[in-house]
Amino acid sequence: METLENQQARVILKKGRAKSALNRHPWIFSGAIDRVEGECEGGEVVPVYSAEKRLLGKGFFNPRSQIRVRLLSFEDQPVNREFFRRKIRQALELREKLIPAHTTACRLVHSEGDFLPGLVVDRYGEVLAAHFSSLGMAKLKPLMVEILKELLRPAAIFERSEGSALREEGLTPLKQSLWGEPPGVVEILENNLRFRVDVPEGQKTGFYLDQRDNRRLIGELAAGSQALLNCFSYTGGFSVYAALQGAATTSVDASEPALALARENFGLNGLNPEGHRFVPANVFEFLREPPETYDIIILDPPAFVKHRKDLEKAARGYKDINRLAIKQVKSGGLLLTCSCSHFVNRDLFRKIVFSAAQEAGRNVQILAQPGQPPDHPVNIFHPEGEYLKTLLLRVFD
Ligand code: SAH
Repeated sequence: METLENQQARVILKKGRAKSALNRHPWIFSGAIDRVEGECEGGEVVPVYSAEKRLLGKGFFNPRSQIRVRLLSFEDQPVNREFFRRKIRQALELREKLIPAHTTACRLVHSEGDFLPGLVVDRYGEVLAAHFSSLGMAKLKPLMVEILKELLRPAAIFERSEGSALREEGLTPLKQSLWGEPPGVVEILENNLRFRVDVPEGQKTGFYLDQRDNRRLIGELAAGSQALLNCFSYTGGFSVYAALQGAATTSVDASEPALALARENFGLNGLNPEGHRFVPANVFEFLREPPETYDIIILDPPAFVKHRKDLEKAARGYKDINRLAIKQVKSGGLLLTCSCSHFVNRDLFRKIVFSAAQEAGRNVQILAQPGQPPDHPVNIFHPEGEYLKTLLLRVFD
């Protein structure tokens, strides 16, 4: 089978810099590289050797990126069409086992978490949304489309390659149809609830699939006529789960189109949106003077930290909203607070929420600390892939 490797070139690491690759970490930084032998273009698959000439693996080369090689394999195996087909199949097998019943939307491929650096594929019913974030994967786009078509027979494949990481790889944002009729708003089932997802225009690839399990958790906790405040509600996911259990919900988001879709999602699930509140507002301002206190508050903000240099400012942002939310929860009530920033690790997030609780001057218990769901797996050798942190807290006086 035709190789996808550049067999003329090879990357040689500096002495003493092989440890990370021997530990199966998929990133080779520019500073670890001694030299590149032979001609080699950005995006090509090249072998990587230690200073002692031991083969460490093969991966996508990118001379523009600080992450100079993204390793695909740590063995001496051919990288060809069959290699990628096998990796994608393995990713699909996991989802076949783990995705809950009555659910037609999930992440099928999660980049390094599925040993496919730079490829994300989300499924929304018959439609696939793909995100290519490494130069190597972007160059293999036609092959990936062919494999996805063969394995999944989708009605459409739509590209949503956006976000700040693209620039570091020398890629430009792309939003385009890769196969089939360009999709519009599609309807999905999640735990038997119905949601409309705007694949071409919505945030991320259309829906925050990574919050599926947390949404179900809130559905379980919201039974009874409780007042629930859903901050950063997007298209109302958490609110729909809670409202179906009888909660009176308030959804706050800065995006009017997201709130319009939230109302539609209420209607789709047999709920009357008129009985609930949808507030287009900045959460930072809303939480300073909310009209009431709540039995349950959800805080699911966007990633405040896109770069390490923003960490301090972002930490203040997280602390502020958490302090305000802890103050607004009724005694005995719950706060589900999340962070999806890569640079805020689990420990730091807990410290931030600790400070917020201290400043709010209330008692707080941690009831659960869920992470990302199994269709967003973390490669154990690539801890950077763990990004979603959640704390379920009980607040009382
Ligand atoms: N919990 C949602 C996903 C939240 S995504 C779900 O389950 O689907 C984050 C949301 O925060 C986006 O919809 C974005 O429009 C909104 N947002 C970002 N900054 C905001 C701000 N300062 N105030 C209100 N909403 C904001």
